[in-house]
Amino acid sequence: MATFVELSTKAKMPIVGLGTWKSPLGKVKEAVKVAIDAGYRHIDCAYVYRNEHEVGEAIQEKIQEQAVKREDLFIVSKLGPTFFERPLVRKAFEKTLKDLKLNYLDVYLIHWPQGFKAMEELVDEGLVKALGISNFNHFQIEKLLNKPGLKYKPVTNQVECHPYLTQEKLIQYCHSKGITVTAYSPLGSPDRPWAKPEDPSLLEDPKIKEIAAKHKKTAAQVLIRFHIQRNVIVIPKSVTPARIVENIQVFDFKLSDEEMATILTFNRNWRACNMLQSSHLEDYPFDAEY
Ligand code: NDP
Repeated sequence: MATFVELSTKAKMPIVGLGTWKSPLGKVKEAVKVAIDAGYRHIDCAYVYRNEHEVGEAIQEKIQEQAVKREDLFIVSKLGPTFFERPLVRKAFEKTLKDLKLNYLDVYLIHWPQGFKAMEELVDEGLVKALGISNFNHFQIEKLLNKPGLKYKPVTNQVECHPYLTQEKLIQYCHSKGITVTAYSPLGSPDRPWAKPEDPSLLEDPKIKEIAAKHKKTAAQVLIRFHIQRNVIVIPKSVTPARIVENIQVFDFKLSDEEMATILTFNRNWRACNMLQSSHLEDYPFDAEY
């Protein structure tokens, strides 16, 4: 099983990456170092996570101790939602690049369906290898792809995806357009600040646990493996060293076709991140079916 997904640019994006949202200062640096030692080569970052400077310290230390080369790493970051004006794009990007202590990013995502043009200049200048999108529904992707003068097609759409939000139509649509999908909140984001006790829990789901037990794996490993078998990139977040290691030990077992089909029936269109605070905005992406 490939550990990479090939992008339309022919670049290879590691299929498992480390998420860093909510990873606190004082912990995220160690988490990134543990992850690199465990074999992670893809780190998912964002300006709004307010921890990119520590992620950058970890990357720099690992490069300096020759544990890894920059070109072997795949670093993704995202433009914050309030920076869509052209001069602000540049400012936000420069802050991200400086904090991460890098001279280029592998993919730069728009965190929300707005603005793309100013980001294309960053590709022209070699500061970003490819552009991506996040939280776009298929109407918004269609609109972007049909934009006159679009210079760079997005290489990935990063969206929430897990057995309670299987995204079958959106994945099919993206793949048909040569756009990969990256699954965020693959474990159901149990540490999201707005979690309620009555919300469903993927990690505690008895049916997921049953499948995991059959393979002598954990629920988290099944939840991650589910994406790999759909050729979907997946970015579980953890700051716990044992879990960071566990979450990449997903290449030594295979879910059967029947198990994959069963997991797909768990869909209930439930979102851990429904971004309701933005639901009044014209471009709120989650009202569309997909
Ligand atoms: P995840 O679904 O990755 O869940 C993270 C939580 O699961 C943490 O509480 C973590 O705990 C726990 N956890 C991790 N591994 C295990 C394990 N093996 N067993 C039990 N618990 C485990 O949630 P996120 O919402 O953080 O999503 C992942 C990443 O996706 C984000 O960090 C971010 O990079 C990206 N993202 C992007 C968004 C966007 O709008 N583009 C929105 C949301 C996420 P602990 O850390 O304490 O070990």
